[in-house]
Amino acid sequence: MPLVLDGIAIAAEIKSEVALEVQALEERGVKPGLAVILVGNVPASEIYVRSKVKTCGELGIHSEMLTPPESVTTEELLAMVAELNGRDEIDGILIQLPLPQHVDTKRLLEAVAPEKDVDGFHPVNVGRLQSGQPGLQPCTPAGVMEMLRRRKIDLAGKNAVVIGRSDIVGKPMAMLLLNASATVTICHSKTADLSSITQRADILVAAIGRPGFVTEDMVKQGAVIVDVGINRVTDERKFAEFFGDDPARRATFAKRGSVVVGDVHPQAFLASSAYTPVPGGVGALTIAMLMANTVKAAKLRRAV
Ligand code: NAP
Repeated sequence: MPLVLDGIAIAAEIKSEVALEVQALEERGVKPGLAVILVGNVPASEIYVRSKVKTCGELGIHSEMLTPPESVTTEELLAMVAELNGRDEIDGILIQLPLPQHVDTKRLLEAVAPEKDVDGFHPVNVGRLQSGQPGLQPCTPAGVMEMLRRRKIDLAGKNAVVIGRSDIVGKPMAMLLLNASATVTICHSKTADLSSITQRADILVAAIGRPGFVTEDMVKQGAVIVDVGINRVTDERKFAEFFGDDPARRATFAKRGSVVVGDVHPQAFLASSAYTPVPGGVGALTIAMLMANTVKAAKLRRAV
């Protein structure tokens, strides 16, 4: 049976370590602080932000939420970021994405002081990651690395294939794997003969955003599969295709009218030696890593 890489358990380990670090910092008179900017009323973003703020509270991190309306301008948001950049008690600034179309997202992300960029999206931090220097790294791929490290998955010399080349997941994931001495291939929607590449992967990371895209025939026997995808399935036929008569999933589907499935077909996990489930895998780690990044930012910036 493949090993299940339990993101919830690993996130709990990370959070309890962060809480201890926060305590130690408090004894030295430092309380890490995170500011989150949430624009407008996007229900999914509100849920994410609420759970980030709640986790800060649980770990002893100070948090602030700024909630400008949908109509806010880029200039107004830039002023907000500048104010947060200047405040000493704020160590991390997070701008919840996506932003309304009229807002210049790139300009805004570049306005965040790199030392407070807990999402790791600022070009300075992207450059630091590429050149292997210490800096703040994007939470989701950093969480994947933390999970692989803690569960002693060997990376050096292994063939790692990342499907997806987004700035948020695919590219930083590939760079982190490369920095860990894996031999990395990045695939995307224009990749020819994708299966022939994935079939050679010792470590296969799927960050595509397409339910059950990676099927069993695409996976090398004994590969480690990391499924970053989070997709909602509401269609009965699709449900049956992914989960057959799995009673637990069926109960969730009946109760909520939907279930979450990753980018990897559940059958494909059977060929692996270890895999991250969806839900309960990578998704669980992202907030834990945000907390870890906030404490890291506080320590680096305040030199404590
Ligand atoms: P994204 O920006 O939409 O990027 C998707 C990538 O997949 C693109 O690079 C795209 O290629 C590639 N792709 C699309 N169709 C493909 C195909 N048929 N064959 C090969 N590659 C294909 O998405 P993202 O932000 O990286 O997110 C990916 C998934 O991860 C989503 O399900 C998202 O919800 C999930 N996610 C989870 C977490 C978490 O905390 N677990 C965090 C972030 C994202 P092109 O570049 O050629 O278009």
